[in-house]
Amino acid sequence: MRNKCLRGLSILALLAASLVAPAGAASPEPSEDARAIVEALVACGTRHSLSSWTDTKRGVGCGRDVVVRRLEAVENESGKRMRVVVDKFETSAPRTKNVPVPMENIYAILPGTDPALERTAFVVSGHYDSMPSDIMDPATDAPGADDDASGTAVSILAARALAPTRARAALVFAAVAGEEQGLLGGKRLLEWLTKQGYTVGGMITCDIVGATNGSPDRRVRVFSEGGPDGIDSPGRQMARLVEEINGEDKVRLVFRLDRFGRGGDHRPFVEAGLPAVRFTEPLEDYRHEHQTPRVENGIEYGDLVKFMDFDFVAKTAAVVQKTLAEMANAPAPPRKATLGGAVTPSAVVFLESEWDAERAGFEILWRETTEARWSVLRTIDTGNRTSPSSTFEETLSSISTDNHYFAARSVGKNGKKSIAVPAVAAARRPPA
Ligand SMILES: [Zn+2]
Repeated sequence: MRNKCLRGLSILALLAASLVAPAGAASPEPSEDARAIVEALVACGTRHSLSSWTDTKRGVGCGRDVVVRRLEAVENESGKRMRVVVDKFETSAPRTKNVPVPMENIYAILPGTDPALERTAFVVSGHYDSMPSDIMDPATDAPGADDDASGTAVSILAARALAPTRARAALVFAAVAGEEQGLLGGKRLLEWLTKQGYTVGGMITCDIVGATNGSPDRRVRVFSEGGPDGIDSPGRQMARLVEEINGEDKVRLVFRLDRFGRGGDHRPFVEAGLPAVRFTEPLEDYRHEHQTPRVENGIEYGDLVKFMDFDFVAKTAAVVQKTLAEMANAPAPPRKATLGGAVTPSAVVFLESEWDAERAGFEILWRETTEARWSVLRTIDTGNRTSPSSTFEETLSSISTDNHYFAARSVGKNGKKSIAVPAVAAARRPPA
């Protein structure tokens, strides 16, 4: 009887599976998918931003076609709920000899479901352009498997994984050009989002996320800058949340904007005061980055597929997916957190926030001034409030303003948490 039942169930399960995934159309493993994407991009020979946009076999236009084909397939699978945009623009910089040149970014947008958050975008981006040893050379082979076909693959994998899901806020999966020419595509991505009326709730650039180079530590590094005081910034708050969502065994926080002497597409977002971080592999081998493929004194140079670790690419995509899904379902962070109670024995935290019916409340966070990570000091339940009151005040009895840093964040009825907003003292002149 039991067997018969199970058999009946398994036939039903097979039937159900055949409805969503017809035979022969099974989704590939993410690591195999990552390999296929990277190999297709590398097959373009070079994806230098000043190479041909019209040659379908060689050049940056060939790279664009690979990305567009992939994302359009996801768009179709999603029943067009996801929307693919090819953003053509003109730009100039020292690395275009200050001459205006054409560029193209590609975005896949998954609209948010909640009118309160649908104009907030959570963004992942990789750059699909590449370079040989000479940044101004658009002709020589520049495979760019790791830098940054790997990050481009992560955007596509994340788009595919999240397309069937629903989130309160919008998700944007980007592949941009012009990174090596001076972060031109990243700057454009921010301009485009702003022009479309989006507020950036969080941005991740995945740049060089394709190799582990024998590193015993296989965690993806998350770079975040410290802000004007060197201590906190929206990016730093986001980095802490990325770690909290994924675990210390999956991500390694690095409290720096970027690696020494290097840049990335999160920078324009950071400079605009937005929460943005950079994901990079645990240990880089500079013989495989920004190098024309060649052998010199028995050493092989070049950014080649054979140096890649596609399991790591897939794991990085999983971290990105989890992060975006959590952040895009959380209530908006408090608009403002202010710390009062200076020169008294008790600190007071004042919060201002937008009304959100899905918010359960807030958490007051604190940490020792020597600590890197927040702890929850107090939970404020506002879930039963029915009026759209947007200010809250919490007195922290017998806790001095001076011995800790404080912050606050929103918590949703679904348990999702926003990034933290530091509670800073209102500016006042110190007594003489
Ligand atoms: Zn790069």
